[in-house]
Amino acid sequence: MPTPKDFNTINKQTWCPGCGNFGTETALKGALAELGLNPEKVVFVFDIGCCGNGNNWYRGYVFHSLHGRSIPAAEGIKMANNAEHVIVIGGDGGLYAEGGNHFVHAVRRNIDITCIVSDNQIYGLTTGQASPTSDLGLKTKTSPEGVVEARLQPLSLTLAISEDTSFVARGFAGDAPHLQKIIVEAIKHKGFSLVDVLQPCVTFNYLNTYDWLRKRVYKLEDDKNYNPENKMLALEKSFEWPIGPNGEGKIPLGIFYKKDKKSFEDHFPQIQSVPLYKQEVKVPSLAASFKEFY
Ligand code: SF4
Repeated sequence: MPTPKDFNTINKQTWCPGCGNFGTETALKGALAELGLNPEKVVFVFDIGCCGNGNNWYRGYVFHSLHGRSIPAAEGIKMANNAEHVIVIGGDGGLYAEGGNHFVHAVRRNIDITCIVSDNQIYGLTTGQASPTSDLGLKTKTSPEGVVEARLQPLSLTLAISEDTSFVARGFAGDAPHLQKIIVEAIKHKGFSLVDVLQPCVTFNYLNTYDWLRKRVYKLEDDKNYNPENKMLALEKSFEWPIGPNGEGKIPLGIFYKKDKKSFEDHFPQIQSVPLYKQEVKVPSLAASFKEFY
C-alpha cells in the first residue's frame, strides 16, 4: 500500500514557512496514497508559480510547463496515455489568467484531468501583484491604492462554461484532512475536475490570511439538504464570497457540483483498450507518391 511519503523526492521545499502550499501538498499526497496509487501511475503537470516549484518535491512523472500552458500539456499527455492519472497544479494567475483560455476549453471538453488551483489570490513567485481572484481593495505592487476590478469567481465561471461541466469543488489549505477528501473524489471522478484551493500566501497577501479564511469558511456537506447534483443551487452558492470593507459574508467549501458525463476520451474508441502510446504506428511507404515528382 503506498504512503504519502512515496510521493516525496530527496529535495526539501523552499516555500516560505507557513505557506499554504504545504497544506495542499499534504492533502494531495495523502489523497493519492488513500487511493492506492503509486507514483508511476500519476503524471503531475505543474504551471509556473510558487506551487509550480513543487515539480522538485513530487515524485511521479512530472512535467513543468510554460506559464499558463499546463492544461494543454496535460491534455496531450492524457490523450497519449489515457491509463494514467493526470493532475495539473497551478496558481490563480497561471490557470485563471495566462491559461484562462485553455482552462475554459478543457472544462468544455470534459477531459479526464484533475486541476488543482493553488488560489492564494495574488502572484506570489513574482513578489506580490494582483491576480484575477484578488479581493477588491487589496493593495499590491500593481494596485498600490487597492484593487478596483471585481474579483473573478472561478467556481461560477466553471459551472457556467458548458452543460458538460462535471466536477467543481473548493477546499482550504488550512484544513488538509477536508481538502484530502475533496481531492480523492476529484481524482476518482471521470472527467474534468476543478479543485480551487484557498491557500494563504503568508508573505505577500496580508488580507486573505489563515485567520481571515477560518472565520469565514463553512462546509456545504454540513447542510444535509445540499444536493451537489443541483447545478443552479451550486451556481448560487458559488457566488457567496465576502464583500465590503470588512469582508462580510461566508465562503462555502466542499463539492459544489458533481455529475457523471461522457468524458473527452470516451469519444475515441481507438484508445479504449490500448493507450495511444502503445499502439503500433504504421508508416506508409511514400516511394510511390514520390515517383510522381521524379
Ligand atoms: Fe508561498 Fe507566498 Fe512564499 Fe510563494 S511567496 S512560497 S505563495 S508564502
